[in-house]
Amino acid sequence: EAKRRHGGVCAYDPSLDTGDTSRLTLQSELRQGIERGELVVFYQPKIDVATRRPCGAEALVRWQHPTRGLLGPDAFIPLAEESGLIDMVTADVLDQALAQLGRWTELGHQLPVSVNVPARSLTDEAFPETIVAALARHGVPPKLLTLEMTESAVVTDMERAGEVLRRLREHGVHISIDDFGTGYSSIAHLRDMPPHELKIDRSFVMKMCENSRDETIVRAVVDLAKNLRLRVVAEGVENEDALRALGDLGCDEAQGYHISRPLPAAELTAWLGRSEM
Ligand code: C2E
Ligand code: CA
Ligand code: CA
Ligand code: CA
Repeated sequence: EAKRRHGGVCAYDPSLDTGDTSRLTLQSELRQGIERGELVVFYQPKIDVATRRPCGAEALVRWQHPTRGLLGPDAFIPLAEESGLIDMVTADVLDQALAQLGRWTELGHQLPVSVNVPARSLTDEAFPETIVAALARHGVPPKLLTLEMTESAVVTDMERAGEVLRRLREHGVHISIDDFGTGYSSIAHLRDMPPHELKIDRSFVMKMCENSRDETIVRAVVDLAKNLRLRVVAEGVENEDALRALGDLGCDEAQGYHISRPLPAAELTAWLGRSEM
């Protein structure tokens, strides 16, 4: 059936329901791939909008597949979430990102790192200890780690999720609500489980200078964040006009292709050298 949809070519896209066989194949390939160290982490810098200096980097996973090339997260994160492999992915990315943060610190760069975590992890009572153990293993101060929470499903056990978030905060880890304004991310969370940061979804930022509705939404989220004393980050900043408009609105941090694409660690190190001169 999938073959018909793709004109005779069996597209390698596990997010489509291409049948049990290919999903199972990909699932076991992914497990093996993680064990063999095939997950690679790229880093996309964020800048302070007011000073334009680098103020952090987001870790974005890719899979260096032995035969299919470099796969983006959209090709395997949904499957990892469904199959329970996501915890292995999170642990691997966290480990690589904290090791890299340590290397940047040795080079004299103070660069907090953000790691993506599905909100579902908040229902795992052992999650705070996993994070704290990883920080200790790499000797990284908790305040240099931000967890970007994305909701791809409703978190039903809100009580437990709130408790896990509270413990993470107590340890000093920073919490960000990713893709704010889309999907299941809800304003009620700002009251019940206050984060440190809101990240405005790129779908609102990308065309904010051409579309006045997008601009209005970005302005409203920035104002909401300011009034709640939260930091606010805009992602998907693709041009100078958007960066300037965000400055006028009082947005704290910006991330996007206009600043830099996600880069392998070594290339980001070079970028940091250039942008801190
Ligand atoms: P996200 O967390 O919203 O990450 C931002 C995505 O926007 C990245 O896509 C990034 O490359 C892209 N992007 C950055 N700047 C721009 C821009 O100026 N314009 C446009 N059009 N796009 C921009 P990427 O790397 O393909 O990641 C896609 C999603 O996969 C992420 O969205 C995140 O939800 C998920 N993801 C990535 N790494 C991980 C991970 O380690 N764990 C988990 N659970 N999810 C991850
Ligand atoms: Ca993110
Ligand atoms: Ca996002
Ligand atoms: Ca997203």
